[in-house]
Amino acid sequence: MKKSNKKVISIVAVILCAAIVIGLVSYDFVKSSLSVESTDIAMGTVISFSIKGKDAQAATDEIKEFIIGLENSCLSWRVEESDVWRINYGAGTDVSVSTETASWIGRALDISADSEGAFDITVGKLTRLWNIGSGEEVLPDKETISTLLDDVGYKKVFISDTSVKIENCQAIDLGAIGKGVACDVAKDLLDDYSIKEAIISVGGSILVYNQKASVGIADPSNSQKHMATIEVDNQCVSTSGDYERFFEADGKKYHHILDPETGYPAITDLRSVTVICDSGLDADALSTACFVMGYRKSLELLNKYDAEAVFVFDNNTVSVTDGIKDSFKLTSDNYTVE
Ligand code: ADP
Ligand code: MG
Repeated sequence: MKKSNKKVISIVAVILCAAIVIGLVSYDFVKSSLSVESTDIAMGTVISFSIKGKDAQAATDEIKEFIIGLENSCLSWRVEESDVWRINYGAGTDVSVSTETASWIGRALDISADSEGAFDITVGKLTRLWNIGSGEEVLPDKETISTLLDDVGYKKVFISDTSVKIENCQAIDLGAIGKGVACDVAKDLLDDYSIKEAIISVGGSILVYNQKASVGIADPSNSQKHMATIEVDNQCVSTSGDYERFFEADGKKYHHILDPETGYPAITDLRSVTVICDSGLDADALSTACFVMGYRKSLELLNKYDAEAVFVFDNNTVSVTDGIKDSFKLTSDNYTVE
């Protein structure tokens, strides 16, 4: 072969190699900037995903499936053979559960102790009696409430790494941590997929992953709208409020967050509490706990868990903890910051 032909062939080969490399790199670049947005129903609520990264679609699919599985195999008291169903069914005995379920319940018990019982997963029988959000609510009578109240008490729950035992007449309800747990599980899966950034919301619990985002706080008087926003940087946000699930009877409003001391919906001057912290479970449990405890008592609890919060009161004033004062913005003229 002529020397000049050889030279042409090697130049062409180099160009081809370069084209392949550039092609692969740009394919990778396009994939890594893939963005998946989707909405679904799970845990009796709307879940929405906004995930960016190479495997955004696979991560979205797996997280969705995982959350549905989580409810069916661990968290739901309704689904036969779930961990919670078996704990309730086996009341009075040691029931073996997954290590994850045991550790979530353990964390819930810590928050019960730190909130002096304002947060208590043993309200299960009472939440079933009230059945708020079912559309078939009937005002329960005082005697039934007081009888069921006797069995409420987180101190009667015993756990090991792989088992949970509640007292004979007790029933647990993980409704106040389920959505937060879903955010934590989603976070681990996003790590596994090396996702660039994501926002996942499971009802009132939101995970802002590897990015900063402005998160809207629902207006308790019109929950389709926001009354404020907060800047969240790689954390979880959870809101509990009296406007989410409630019914009216005898001219009174009965919402779904119960005071474990009275057995009735918590009486408070709050409309909602939004908690921001690193863990989804903590944010979810703390928002419920703070709603029951009220503003003043909540501050110490929030401090202990390194959490920040926004309190919306029924006189349309708002209190924001010090750590998020600068990132909080009112977006509705109907509210004022205290
Ligand atoms: P949501 O589930 O609507 O986001 P929360 O996170 O505040 O609202 O949880 C409320 C649910 O938790 C109730 O529907 C009930 O199942 C359960 N629950 C009610 N009161 C308490 C309480 N004081 N402590 C623990 N769980 C509670
Ligand atoms: Mg909660």
